[in-house]
Amino acid sequence: MIEILNLSDLPKARAVGALVAGILQSMKSRSAVGTNLLEIDQWTKALIEEAGAESCYVDYAPSFGRGPFGHYICTSVNDAVLHGLPFDYALADGDLLSLDLAVSLDGVVADSAISFVVGEATSPHDGALISATERALTAGIAAAGPGAKIGDLSYAIGTVLSGAGYTINTEFGGHGVGSTMHQDPHVSNTGRPGRGYKLRPGLLLALEPWVMADTNELVTDDDGWTLRSATGCRTAHSEHTIAITEDGAEIMTLPR
Ligand code: MG
Ligand code: MG
Repeated sequence: MIEILNLSDLPKARAVGALVAGILQSMKSRSAVGTNLLEIDQWTKALIEEAGAESCYVDYAPSFGRGPFGHYICTSVNDAVLHGLPFDYALADGDLLSLDLAVSLDGVVADSAISFVVGEATSPHDGALISATERALTAGIAAAGPGAKIGDLSYAIGTVLSGAGYTINTEFGGHGVGSTMHQDPHVSNTGRPGRGYKLRPGLLLALEPWVMADTNELVTDDDGWTLRSATGCRTAHSEHTIAITEDGAEIMTLPR
């Protein structure tokens, strides 16, 4: 199903987007060497509840996962790239952490992800991984607007990722957003321009380029959720929720 938001409800999407962006930035600033992933989860829970919002994750139980997720944020470290289930782990200097958060407020969902390096240690390749996903996200958003096709966005994203030297996994990508987190249309991270659903004002989309340094194959952890690179290489993920407007696209989850 594809939901189209009434444009008069756009302020609701902005409000939930600002909440998600604010929580992610807060968690980034608190993610230091020694911070435990379970602390990040609990801090996120507290901020969601304080805002009167609802987690899209805690009871989430899709066919690809194992039972309800049971936590409030995805914490994917180093070779983990998507759906990282928080566990008892203290962050180390140089860890590449991806945080992914979706919440519902006033009946509208926003979904966003950021990747960054914890502490002081840096590796040039981590910067390249993160930059590729951020630039791909920017390109996908730039291709979005009324009348554009989903394939235009996928092509823009995929061109940046493959141009940066990465191979693209098409099992997981972006998606429509609305009263629930995952809706049609699917937005693959590679595609052909001019193909697919034509965007219209009021459509909310989550665009989420992600890459793994030297593979496009995933393996699933024993926790049934966390997806890692098959080779153990490092990974990155960036995501924004955008709204198609009358004259373009507006990012709902931009940090303010
Ligand atoms: Mg997400
Ligand atoms: Mg998403």
